Amino acid sequence: MGQMKYPAVVIDHAKLRENFRIIAADCAKEGVFIAGVIKGAGGLVSVAEDFAAAGAKIIASSRLEQLERVREAGIDLPLMLIRIPMLSEVPELISIADMSLNNEHEVLLELNKEAGKQNKRHKVILMQDLGDLREGWFDRQELIEEAVTVENEMDGLILAGIGTNLGCYGSVMPTEDKMKQLAETAVDIENRIGRQLEIVSGGATSSLMGIYDRYMPEKVNMLRIGAGILTGPLDDFRTTYGYTEIDRLHDDCFKLRAEVIELKRKPSRPIGTLGVDAFGNKPEYPDRGERMRAIVAVGRADHGGTEYIVPTLEGAEVIGASGDHTILDVENVTEPLKVGDIIEFKLIYAALLNLTGSENVKIYDI
Ligand SMILES: *Cc1c(COP(=O)(O)O)cnc(C)c1O
Repeated sequence: MGQMKYPAVVIDHAKLRENFRIIAADCAKEGVFIAGVIKGAGGLVSVAEDFAAAGAKIIASSRLEQLERVREAGIDLPLMLIRIPMLSEVPELISIADMSLNNEHEVLLELNKEAGKQNKRHKVILMQDLGDLREGWFDRQELIEEAVTVENEMDGLILAGIGTNLGCYGSVMPTEDKMKQLAETAVDIENRIGRQLEIVSGGATSSLMGIYDRYMPEKVNMLRIGAGILTGPLDDFRTTYGYTEIDRLHDDCFKLRAEVIELKRKPSRPIGTLGVDAFGNKPEYPDRGERMRAIVAVGRADHGGTEYIVPTLEGAEVIGASGDHTILDVENVTEPLKVGDIIEFKLIYAALLNLTGSENVKIYDI
């Protein structure tokens, strides 16, 4: 790889593809296909390429800029915007993406008009809010009427289907009951419009619960998955949603590499009158006596917080970070360490999101 610049994120594309394939195969057994969500990895084109190579049917992101880069890179898959569109981005949306999640009549009208202007037909998935209280129609009858309106009155749009999002704002679990409600709404719409819907989208990584607990209704045929593929078992899905199947995935597709810039033995409690740290917090500093500490040249400005990074170096423990420094207790590290060495970290979703979105972090592929 030659001389790297740090901090760096190194992507193991073979592992990433394997993660995608494993989840896609698990879902396929239950009749569900996957839209690969790239926003968690800064919309990197190389990640979209992995998803495409591993069999993604759709590439999805919350950001049009990311989808545009994917399109420009020549990836020939349908592109889907999964953050409901801003009215102000309707023209770009129609020209860049093939499909979007929607929740407002007003925006659908604009999409329809713009699609007509651009001589395109844009696919829409209408969102049902099943209680998580983020996006979507909370009133299911209203959603059904809107679907009928799109079907009958909006020639520039294709009603591709419906979807839901759970476990975001309201931390509502994607239980069997919620999936059944979504499926019932789909059936009601199908009865009204006299045809099958192409897509019934049951949620994000959290909805894998329905796959692994085997309760996904037949009607639900798509999930929008990012985090599970990108970070595997490292995130808290496993403990929150109870599926251990995710342990089969790699948790190190992305690794942070940071360089040691100080290595010294110091007391573990700061000396002096304690006020607040660089972020206005009052952390606890347990007295563990003098300890060997390493500082690496990466900080909260890059990874977002110490709770999001996990050092792979045996015995190392992250004890704090400011904007541009991360401090590790390396007292129990047996490997010889010196200034200039590189320490690696696995990444929890938030760190991956922050690091891949940062101009100060280089990305390398292996
Ligand atoms: C982010 C997002 C997803 C993907 O979520 P993961 O937890 O990364 O799988 C799916 N749908 C919507 C609407 C999203 O915003």
